[in-house]
Amino acid sequence: MKEKGVRELPKVELHLHLEGAAPPAFIRGLAAEKKEDISGIFDEQGGYAWRDFWHFLKVYEAATSVLRSPEDYHRLTLAVLEESAASGVVYGETFLSPDFCGGRDPGAWREYLHAIREAADQAERQMGITLRGIVTCIRHFGPEKARETAICAAETAGDWLVGFGIAGDETVGAPKDFAWSFDCAREAGLRLTAHAGEWGGPESVRAALTDLNPERIGHGVRAIEDLALVDELAERGTVLEVCPGSNVSLGLYRDFRAHPIAELDRRGVKVTISTDDPPFFHTTMAREYQELHRAFDWDEGQFGRIARQSLDAAFCDADTKARIAKLLEG
Ligand SMILES: [Zn+2]
Repeated sequence: MKEKGVRELPKVELHLHLEGAAPPAFIRGLAAEKKEDISGIFDEQGGYAWRDFWHFLKVYEAATSVLRSPEDYHRLTLAVLEESAASGVVYGETFLSPDFCGGRDPGAWREYLHAIREAADQAERQMGITLRGIVTCIRHFGPEKARETAICAAETAGDWLVGFGIAGDETVGAPKDFAWSFDCAREAGLRLTAHAGEWGGPESVRAALTDLNPERIGHGVRAIEDLALVDELAERGTVLEVCPGSNVSLGLYRDFRAHPIAELDRRGVKVTISTDDPPFFHTTMAREYQELHRAFDWDEGQFGRIARQSLDAAFCDADTKARIAKLLEG
């Protein structure tokens, strides 16, 4: 398989933070309109520039600080989906936070959600890419705010807002503190995913499984440090939303060859491929595929199998899945 052929393969992406996917040129333009100077966060090529994890968080915060209205999010969603579609993504799910969209006020959240959904519908008509939303609470904001977030999610659960999860600093608090929020979301019919096993070790994955019982784990790659846990993930059929470029960029692994995605796959764990916060990690879905092809010699058959596995793990309804399955068949 030629490397350039990788771009055209139809892709399914399950782990993408909407604000974290904001193209730098879009953020620069929005800052200029609002007459705000955030030029210090860009490098000479116009990409996001950061030195270490602490600085990454600062740059991320500065970049996303210019997103402040439903209209901003409408434009953001279109800009993000344009990038995804250019990488061959045909179906994506994105993380949304009522914390950033209306400060957890249910009325304001509905307005943001409406604007995002409208943009997603427009992108579907114009670019043929389908998007669904997953609300995430932010772990380091604490369990009380997570409850308000879960209530926003439960009230807007439906055919577009299909999931609930938890993101944010994995080293703060414990999954069990968020059990109420996960139960609230589950009762509203939302499907569940939780970030674990990125900054935390295998024990963080175990805690998320035991206390929150999600179908999918965001990252989860550090499960590889405990092979009994790897077997358990394979047996349970828990899906890992693996973001190799993000992990390499943040220094969890030296390079793609040192990344455990191939080993997890060989051991029967259901892995999927995503970009997390792509422009911050100088990646795209096409680049993830190219790097995986180079590192592990993954070919069209392997990528096709993972795309179908990802679609199986998607939180959308059966009709949507059937429609996307046809696109994967080509
Ligand atoms: Zn993430």
